[in-house]
Amino acid sequence: MTGGNGKKCIFCKKMKNNGFYLLTAFICLDCEKEITALSPDDLKYNSYLSDIKMFWRQLEREVV
Ligand SMILES: [Zn+2]
Repeated sequence: MTGGNGKKCIFCKKMKNNGFYLLTAFICLDCEKEITALSPDDLKYNSYLSDIKMFWRQLEREVV
């Protein structure tokens, strides 16, 4: 085990090796599973959504 490798997940903020990119944002497999399992009624769902919104705002700024 070598710690510190991988990419930083935008949701859990941990360094993970397994995941995918949503444009430039890395999302780890664990979070992806959690997100897809969430229902809109779930409190966590809203916090994920606000994370995504913040991420998009940052992107917009960079693109413009
Ligand atoms: Zn994650």
